[in-house]
Amino acid sequence: MRWTDLRWTDLRWTVMGCIEALCSVDIPRMVERKSRLSLSSLTLVCGPVLLAAILLLAVTPEKHLSVYSTAANYSLPLVQRDRRDYVGLLEVLEPLGRVSAKSDGQRWRLRYNRVEGEFNASRMRVRIQGRDVDLPARFILENGRGLVPLSSLAALLPRFLGGPVTVHEDSGRLFIGSIATHFTASLAADNPPKLVFHFTTAVNPAVSTEPGALHMTFSREPLVAPALPTLTFGSKVIPSATYSESNGGAVITVISPVPLIASFSSDGRTVTISPSSTTTQTVVTPTGPTGTPLSAGNISTAAPSSGSRRYFAVIDASHGGDDRGETLSSTLFEKDVTVALARSLRQELESRGITVLDLRDSDGNLSLDQRAFLANTNHAAVYIALHATASGHGVRIYTALLPYGGDDRGPFHSWTTSQHAYLSLSQSAAADVANEFQKRQILVRALTAPLRPLNSVTTAALAVEVAPQGSDLTQLNAPDYQQLVTSAVATAIAADRDKLGAAQ
Ligand SMILES: [Zn+2]
Repeated sequence: MRWTDLRWTDLRWTVMGCIEALCSVDIPRMVERKSRLSLSSLTLVCGPVLLAAILLLAVTPEKHLSVYSTAANYSLPLVQRDRRDYVGLLEVLEPLGRVSAKSDGQRWRLRYNRVEGEFNASRMRVRIQGRDVDLPARFILENGRGLVPLSSLAALLPRFLGGPVTVHEDSGRLFIGSIATHFTASLAADNPPKLVFHFTTAVNPAVSTEPGALHMTFSREPLVAPALPTLTFGSKVIPSATYSESNGGAVITVISPVPLIASFSSDGRTVTISPSSTTTQTVVTPTGPTGTPLSAGNISTAAPSSGSRRYFAVIDASHGGDDRGETLSSTLFEKDVTVALARSLRQELESRGITVLDLRDSDGNLSLDQRAFLANTNHAAVYIALHATASGHGVRIYTALLPYGGDDRGPFHSWTTSQHAYLSLSQSAAADVANEFQKRQILVRALTAPLRPLNSVTTAALAVEVAPQGSDLTQLNAPDYQQLVTSAVATAIAADRDKLGAAQ
């Protein structure tokens, strides 16, 4: 798929590779308190029926299908036709392999790798590789787009993919192959008690609290239910937790009469829930893998500016220290390539008269929240994170994918959706950077992904992920290729100087 398509479709992508590595490094978290509508004034004016309608509208987000596979995790919009949920079949298959579709009158042909399917508008029988498959409801052809009932995916997809799939129809979740994240919960008998969750893979849930409960919402992890949906712990402080699924996500709710906070371990697989000593917003102290507090002192060059100097661009060499990022070869780690890319980008920007703060110019530990904090407190006009990967070819430009429905219904943006107000500026800058790569005939794609810390940055923010052009991985470490990439980025940023600076 070309980047120009991606910008305009409602596809939401998470591409594997170093993105997974990045998301797994989830050291400190801020615990947000859910912002809620102020209802007291409304209650005086409106009747209870109208109030209920308002509440319903406020909490009913657009319906989505979350797809989990070893190739990619992504989310697609569901549409309602004939009082059923439908989904575009091409969109489901597109991130998984080579796919094309042709419509010809009432007929729609879909080709996925070497498998061909033939669909006819309003018919309930389709033909895949010469064999008939019955749908539970009619196939719909709309402007060349083939829509199938959500409940038909369990029958259709194995024919195309050659393997099993599991569809959770009610909650809009699709598992391709045997992919699942399991979890256990156990109460540690400390005083006060702590509830410790262990997950089989790194997780990155959105955390929110309300009186009596703490919610962890997993929108991108293939989390599956424990044997019993309600777990009880025999504690007055933390009596129980429940698991539920809805609209493409899974939610764990921990019940407690006292305010709770969640803290995340550095491996991303452990979440500890404990009583909060205060009912106000709480920041979990950042700690390194050994439990030692991290500070800006671990970083060689970065420090929040004292206000004496403003930087136009903040460059962030992703990973570092204990976090190697992707292992690109037996001798090459992503964390080292990103430092070299950052130095090159800094030179390219400075040679165009742009002031630069490079967050990491040595092999130090720097948490994702620290990166966002440094970008935000320096009031830069643009934040550019750098990644490198052995998978794919060319360059991918990411902008933030914010949680569905948004945690920001109130006047305050939560930490996880701080990027909200800057997203269109970020996307515009990303398009300009992508355009510059196209001019230089370097393969490029512009994507959105729930890529931390982009979502927490309060300025135009993008991540540039560099793959080799061909199969030669050593190109990632070659100064001429690095400069080819960074000069394209710098040219676009320099051309956007007025647009980006106006928002500074
Ligand atoms: Zn990375």
